[in-house]
Amino acid sequence: MAKLCKAGVQLREQIDDAFPNRIRVAPEGWLGDARHAARRSDHNPDAASGIVRAYDFNADFTPNRQTAYDFADQLRLLARVDKRISYIIFDGKIASYKRNYKWRKYTGINPHKNHIHVSFTAKGDFDGSMFRTPLLTGEPINGKLKGRKRKLGKVISSGSVSNILGSGLESANDTNKCCCSRCPGNN
Ligand SMILES: [Zn+2]
Repeated sequence: MAKLCKAGVQLREQIDDAFPNRIRVAPEGWLGDARHAARRSDHNPDAASGIVRAYDFNADFTPNRQTAYDFADQLRLLARVDKRISYIIFDGKIASYKRNYKWRKYTGINPHKNHIHVSFTAKGDFDGSMFRTPLLTGEPINGKLKGRKRKLGKVISSGSVSNILGSGLESANDTNKCCCSRCPGNN
């Protein structure tokens, strides 16, 4: 039976708590449909565990669309230290470990203008601890002030890279193609 990873459940709960007036309408959700099951996607259940490691959040957190941009930006900064987050796609941009979560152009068919795609690592399968970003907790990123000023490209050691690759995430990040089988236009 397919189920959303613990990290995804936790992030959704925190967002629901922080933005109680947001509406979970399509394309919000996590499970890819059967038509797309043959494609490689984090929305498909892991073959062994049935765990889905992706969630699409509608970008209408508040009537002010800037909120979604701020959230996505905070989440990608958190991803540098919270290894449960694999990559984030929003509004024609992707942030992944590949460039230490610096935004870069996303070349998939669907630019993700109306929703934020978040992929999780296997580390988030059973880890539902708090995601510590300012919009969700009122704290600095991960509860610390450092992180934002790190030099890009120098943070990830070879050790942490192999760690991430060990989670089975290399493909979607490196191809930089649309990994979001739930998105309209990605047929
Ligand atoms: Zn998606």
